[in-house]
Amino acid sequence: MNNKIYIETYGCQMNVADSETVASILDVNNYKIASEINNADVIIINTCSVRDNAEKKIWSRLDFIKSIKRKNKNLIVGIIGCMAQRIGEKMLEHPIVDFVAGPDAYRYLPELISNSYLNNKFCNTDFNINETYSGILQKKKDNENMSGFIAITRGCNNFCSYCIVPYTRGRERSANYNDIINEVKKLQENKFKELTLLGQNVNSYYFEDNLNKVNFPSLIEMVAKNAPEMRIRFTTSHPKDLSDELIDVIARNKNICNHIHLPVQSGSNKILERMNRKYTREWYLNRINVIKSKIPDIGLSSDIFCGFSGETEEDFQQTLSLMEEVCYDMAFMFKYSERPGTYAAKSLIDDVPEDVKKERLNRMIHLQNKISLKKNKADIGKTFEVLVEGFSKRSKEMLFGRTEQNKVVVFPSLNKKQGDTVMITIKDASSATLKGEITNS
Ligand code: SF4
Repeated sequence: MNNKIYIETYGCQMNVADSETVASILDVNNYKIASEINNADVIIINTCSVRDNAEKKIWSRLDFIKSIKRKNKNLIVGIIGCMAQRIGEKMLEHPIVDFVAGPDAYRYLPELISNSYLNNKFCNTDFNINETYSGILQKKKDNENMSGFIAITRGCNNFCSYCIVPYTRGRERSANYNDIINEVKKLQENKFKELTLLGQNVNSYYFEDNLNKVNFPSLIEMVAKNAPEMRIRFTTSHPKDLSDELIDVIARNKNICNHIHLPVQSGSNKILERMNRKYTREWYLNRINVIKSKIPDIGLSSDIFCGFSGETEEDFQQTLSLMEEVCYDMAFMFKYSERPGTYAAKSLIDDVPEDVKKERLNRMIHLQNKISLKKNKADIGKTFEVLVEGFSKRSKEMLFGRTEQNKVVVFPSLNKKQGDTVMITIKDASSATLKGEITNS
């Protein structure tokens, strides 16, 4: 049976978790994961649609796969994820695409694949408001039991005016907390060291049954108590829903990592309103100050983009001054990329010239590198608990791992291995990495 599957994943951690769910669904249908793309009978590309570049990457990848299909005429190629959902049926017009499946249709993949073998091209982009795939334990690509992901919510109801996600992932729904705790226990049984609770907006998690009403702060505390040996992380948060209750839960649970990823997007109230972000600069800074006052050694990161519709130099200066005031350890920074089908694409003019967008993005990156370097230099001499993730790309003598603040640390291996927890004293730092030595083993 042609049952070797090769899954290629693009985009966010949500897609990484989805690819592991897909691998698990196919595994129980006797499909095996191929290690090499050239050994595959079926290639599945899990796509992202958040920016134009993300989709361009997929079209050029399909051109590459054309050459593989020329050598293997029976090869089946499927497109899944957000781009599949956004473009849908039209993707079947591509000569080598055999099936298309949106983020709520992964349970139908075995059927879609067998139909493809009968030369029936199918597209399933139906939304299913009840679909959370909960109870399906993700199948890791290389069976490493290090970091696990659990998608606690799917979809999004926030409709930020620039964002394609509500159109590609549907309405928000929360998984049953009992299923989540079962998955946590399975990860713990399988000796996972860390788990990340995932969602487009984890803070709005809510599930109620006749026994309990569970919001996100109570869910993450439940998870922390059920997996005391594991490091607990979560992403992504929305500032409008980041409560004092959650900050207190993080502060009082040692195994919930002191790191919050809190996308701000812009520092200008005018632009935040045009983005439909539903908070103000003042609200955001208040959240940051409360976090810092209750968790002084917190690690903070964000998503920020420039060049949105109507952004003036003055608005942009607001973003730079907010970055200076918050002093993020790290930030993902972009220039605005209009997405078809969003409110912004329909109703707001993309009026900031491309060269101005690029120039502002460079200024943001330059400022953030300066801030990250200053913050990392301030860690020299401090000792952190680090979870070893693997060998550094640069040398097999060096290992890398992360502090609970989500900072990357490289250090001489001293026969330590992936999955070990070590104490590292920081000796030097760059804007992206801390360098240190194992203090005691
Ligand atoms: S919160 Fe806004 S930016 Fe985030 S996924 Fe939802 S709509 Fe998109």
